[in-house]
Amino acid sequence: MGLMQWTFWGAAREVTGSNHLIETSGARVVMDCGLFQGRREESRAKNQQLPYDPKSLDAVVLGHAHTDHSGNLPSLAGGGYAGDVHCTSATRDLCAIMLQDSAMLQEKDADYLRRRGHKGPLIEPLYTTEDAQRIVAQAVTHDYHRPFQVHDGVYATFYDAGHILGSALTRLEIEEGGVKRSVVYACDLGRSGMPILRDPEPPPHADVMVLESTYGDRLHQPLVDAEDELAAHLSRAAARKGKVVIPAFSLGRTQELLYSMHKLVDRGKMPRIPVYVDSPLSANVTDIFRRHPECFDKDMNEHLLVHPDPLGFSELHTIRNVEDSKKLNNMPGPMVIVSASGMAEGGRVLHHLANTISDPANMVLVVGFMAENTLGRRIVEKRPEVRIYGESVPLRAEVVVMNAFSAHGDQADLLRLAGQVKPDRIYLVHGEPAAQAALQAKLREAGFTNVEAPARGQKIQL
Ligand SMILES: [Zn+2]
Repeated sequence: MGLMQWTFWGAAREVTGSNHLIETSGARVVMDCGLFQGRREESRAKNQQLPYDPKSLDAVVLGHAHTDHSGNLPSLAGGGYAGDVHCTSATRDLCAIMLQDSAMLQEKDADYLRRRGHKGPLIEPLYTTEDAQRIVAQAVTHDYHRPFQVHDGVYATFYDAGHILGSALTRLEIEEGGVKRSVVYACDLGRSGMPILRDPEPPPHADVMVLESTYGDRLHQPLVDAEDELAAHLSRAAARKGKVVIPAFSLGRTQELLYSMHKLVDRGKMPRIPVYVDSPLSANVTDIFRRHPECFDKDMNEHLLVHPDPLGFSELHTIRNVEDSKKLNNMPGPMVIVSASGMAEGGRVLHHLANTISDPANMVLVVGFMAENTLGRRIVEKRPEVRIYGESVPLRAEVVVMNAFSAHGDQADLLRLAGQVKPDRIYLVHGEPAAQAALQAKLREAGFTNVEAPARGQKIQL
């Protein structure tokens, strides 16, 4: 057999920076090209040094628009890649605003650091807004279940991942010297029974599965209970006139939270407090949601018939400009502030946290996965003090963690998908070592003997 290799260049024994290289004698294809997040210098270095020459690539396939999967695509354009980026149309639309926003933030950060006298390659933006525009213009979109050719000897079909709008599980068929191999790339996997989106749909059998493992060691609480729990937390904070800060990615989590709050309002369970979504990006993303009903489940489509605006309710306010965002600092509670970034590594949520966490009346409500070495993780660990904008701030606010709103499947969802695809070999990615070890043990119990969690840079023969 000739060359048929898969190299794990990112999200290997960690949850960010998804990036994989598929090589045959006739094709070099990249699967996802996300940003690493975590320790600043280390992430910068990894994001800056692509492990291959973008000009040498024949094609790119993108599973979904989350930053840790798509956020470094503009670097490919910046490095001279002029080929196609295959994805769904909703993923393309989301990337059009997400990548632009990411480039603008980087240009702004670089400017700020330069004015403060910093020098060197670490402060340079990874890419420009032109790079972001260019890579989006290279997108070629495909609907679910429509097989397409990626390059000579490489074919792909998207299946609904049920993770975020437009997300796909990709089934690849790769040919080399008369040998064929199939691979299911399941990163990220959504959950069954979640609002808004359709349930994940298992692709047909494949020889190899590359499987995410974010919650490989956990089971999520059912969502109905979670909505009641959310109402209880918000009511408790409201009773003490506290501000509730919810760090949430602009994409996915924010819309699910709003939808849950909308349903709580309908059921009369939501405390009557103002909810501010403080992120211009979230507002734009919500607009894109309204434009892609083909991704919605039956419930959401029915809900849309009754409520023209299922993500809105009377107490909800969207904040777009910085001045209005700053005004929230001086406004008295109770109130809820939903703001990005999700892991509290940047964005406007930083100034809301800096302003609220020293007061025990307030609350930080954590609804997403917080990776190691992020501010979000330090808050989850309830450190007595955390650093924000280089200053030490005492953490006295109540910290509540709710995993039920996660867009990632839990251990049971991951095991179910493995049982449906029945691969001969499984490679675990997009998870921290403890979660991977737990999932690996469960998969072995279920009869999957060939399970590995590859290291960054590890190469396998397909
Ligand atoms: Zn994701």
